[in-house]
Amino acid sequence: MKITVIGCGYVGLVTAAGLAEAGHWVTGVDRDSLKINKLRHQEAPFYEKDLEPLLRRHLKTGRLTFTTSLALGVANAQIIFIAVGTPALSDGSVDLSQIETVAAQIGPQLHGYTVIVNKSTVPVGTTRRLETIIAQHTCRPVPFDVVSNPEFLREGNAVYDFINPDRIVIGTDSPQARRIMEELYRPFLKKKVPLIQTNPETAELIKYASNAFLATKISFINEIAELCEAVGADLPTVARGMGLDHRIGPEFLSAGPGYGGSCFPKDTKALIHLARSYGKQLSIVEATDAVNTRIQKAMLAKIIRILGPPAGKTIAVYGLAFKANTDDLRESPALSIIEGLLQAGARIRVHDPKALAAGRKVLGDKVTYCADEYTAAQDASAVVITTEWEQYRRLDLDLLKTKMAQAIIIDLRNLLTPEQVRAHGFLYEGIGRGSKQKVG
Ligand code: NAD
Repeated sequence: MKITVIGCGYVGLVTAAGLAEAGHWVTGVDRDSLKINKLRHQEAPFYEKDLEPLLRRHLKTGRLTFTTSLALGVANAQIIFIAVGTPALSDGSVDLSQIETVAAQIGPQLHGYTVIVNKSTVPVGTTRRLETIIAQHTCRPVPFDVVSNPEFLREGNAVYDFINPDRIVIGTDSPQARRIMEELYRPFLKKKVPLIQTNPETAELIKYASNAFLATKISFINEIAELCEAVGADLPTVARGMGLDHRIGPEFLSAGPGYGGSCFPKDTKALIHLARSYGKQLSIVEATDAVNTRIQKAMLAKIIRILGPPAGKTIAVYGLAFKANTDDLRESPALSIIEGLLQAGARIRVHDPKALAAGRKVLGDKVTYCADEYTAAQDASAVVITTEWEQYRRLDLDLLKTKMAQAIIIDLRNLLTPEQVRAHGFLYEGIGRGSKQKVG
């Protein structure tokens, strides 16, 4: 099928490459000419595991092309995907300006029946609103349908998740659009991926409810971690004990510095806002959001409690990205920790395997960027692990100790084994790792 994807960010680009891999002919459109230039030169504009080889493959097969021209990009497309940003406004509501602009631009380009598929995360009611906007901008009456098709990929595993989704959700009342969407996803449906066909409102809410639930799991386990520290219990063991219950499951039970990224913070707030606009209160989601804000602040306090006043001290921060296997810094807990430590007068040396370039754009020359963990640890009074990159599990602790001014590791991702780190002469503090001693 001939497909156009508008918006070549984390979701759009993975969608474009994934659909080319499934055998479709795909044009990616983005208004950012730097991004499109990089793509034309076979370079991914951001780091996402396995994405660049896939892009290269389909730029070569010719199944994938890129343009900055929306008019050229959508010409003759049977299906137009929208995957532009839907950031949060200060009151928690969603800024729909990007998606509404795109809808207005698509209208005049429609000439025959077209399915417009929205992949951006949007409040309930937006799919129908897009229908109205597009209809207002067509040159003459022309048939089209707008379908809600939320995306559930995880950054860092986005390519795998797109190609192996847990489910495909299609929200439309139009039988014709449903048939076309089934045809589009046939290579996936052949692999027995569950398909949910529903109305747009349900599809839109499935996305927000899923993200709010996952965020709730994280805030829940972060509070349990605080309790573990108070009572002398070990959070990873508690989480394992919980996760082996198949009704709970092991995923999203890792305690940490609070959730970040471009989705959970904004999507929980958007769901709360949506519910309030209907006179409803989602108390659990509100608590999830409040706990996350509190946990993020508590991380800074924890570091200062262990390290003492940071003024004049050098601190090595391991990880800038909001999670491993991406260079995405949006709402990254590492950034707020770094800003807090800088304000308290610390000098910061940072390492991240993939996000140093992205970090430079945000932090400028306020911190020192280091190519490896041991350079970052030079003269440091503490190493603070902020992102769960696998390589931080395999630190050479003896070498690390020779570099540091003080042997302290504050492991905000519980990557290391406390006993092992302490055996190397470090003061070690993780999250929720109580002493396991009987408390009175
Ligand atoms: P992003 O910011 O990485 O990408 C958006 C892209 O859209 C940018 O490249 C931007 O230049 C482009 N764009 C904006 N306006 C445009 C226009 N008028 N014409 C052409 N291009 C335009 O965003 P993202 O992370 O890919 O997220 C996109 C949507 O998907 C959001 O609604 C988000 O909530 C949702 N989502 C994101 C994820 C994720 O993990 N990032 C997962 C699921 C859903």
